This record gives sequence, structure tokens and C-alpha cells, in this order.
Amino acid sequence: MAGMQQQSAWIGLGANLGDARRCLAEALRCIDAVPGVRVAAVSSLYRTEPIDAEGPDFTNAVARVETELSPLGLLSALQEIELRLGRVRPVGIHNAPRTIDLDIELFGNGPVSDPPRLVVPHPRMHERRFVLEPLLEVSPDARIPGKGAAADFLPGVLSQRLERIGPFDWRNS
Ligand code: ADP
Ligand code: MG
Repeated sequence: MAGMQQQSAWIGLGANLGDARRCLAEALRCIDAVPGVRVAAVSSLYRTEPIDAEGPDFTNAVARVETELSPLGLLSALQEIELRLGRVRPVGIHNAPRTIDLDIELFGNGPVSDPPRLVVPHPRMHERRFVLEPLLEVSPDARIPGKGAAADFLPGVLSQRLERIGPFDWRNS
């Protein structure tokens, strides 16, 4: 549609149950298929230790999308995808843990404050290596509104375990 304003947003993806790579790839394909959202860049895939979470290691990535959706519109699209993909249902286990988390880390170059539904920048992104490192891979000059250059927060999180798995061929994984 003519005149619709495109903005960049950065989405943090994480999964720690089941086939995490496949789940993240499927999530990216779903995101790319949302009308008004295009996946523009995707980081490598990373293996990371759980932070504020339990269970096995996480698989993480960050994507930059271009979107004409509002921040809340993007959030509800992501939540719909989480629901569609996000629960393994092994036989006999009720309320199986969520397998996928899709967070909006940054939207445009401003803050968004609509708590508790949506707070951007994500309030803990600057404390999380599993967000900062893939984000900086995609956008080395990224700035966190109200805080400063994302790169300046990396030294403070290097004690968190993170391992780069390799490039993420999300269209074919
Ligand atoms: P978490 O991501 O903290 O592990 P959830 O994915 O269950 O936990 O998210 C909890 C709530 O956080 C969601 O219902 C959502 O409305 C809210 N939320 C607030 N800010 C954001 C954001 N920037 N990205 C994603 N969800 C957010
Ligand atoms: Mg979340």
C-alpha cells in the first residue's frame, strides 16, 4: 500500500525444547509470511545457557524485520505464532512447557511503553548476552533507547555462556 511507513524492528527468538533449530526456522518463516512484515536479516544460531529460565540450553537468534505494523500489531502477530508453534504435546503430559519465545527487543528507534503488555526496548535485553551478541551481529550500530550503544553492554555479559553454532539457513531448516 502506498504511503505505509516501514520501520525496522528487532525480534529475539529462543527455544529450549524439542527441535529448537527447526522451531526457530518455522517461526521465522511464519513471521515472514505475516502481511506487512518482512524478515530482512537473521543472525547466526547460538547455543546459550538458560538465564531467568530453567531446563536445557537454549538456541537463540535475532532477526531484523521491516514492518508497517504498529508495535502492538507486531506483538500480537508474534504471540499468535508462539501459540501456533509453541507447545509440544507429548502423550500424557499436560501443560507441556513452551518451546518458543518471541520478544520485541527494539522497535524503530524509540521506546514503546504500554506495560505490562509491551515495553520496548525489552527491559532486560542489555543484561542478556543471548540477545546482545546476535543483535550486534545483525546491526553492529544498534542503539538501545534510553541506554546507549548496544555494543557498550557486551563486556558486562561476557561471563554468560554462549557458543555460536553457525549460520542460520532458516528458509531451509
Ligand atoms: P518472557 O518473554 O519474559 O520469558 P513471556 O514470553 O511469557 O515471558 O512474555 C510475558 C509477557 O510479556 C507477554 O504477555 C507480553 O505481553 C509481555 N511483553 C512486554 N514487553 C514485551 C516485549 N518487548 N516483547 C514481547 N513481549 C513483551
Ligand atoms: Mg516473551
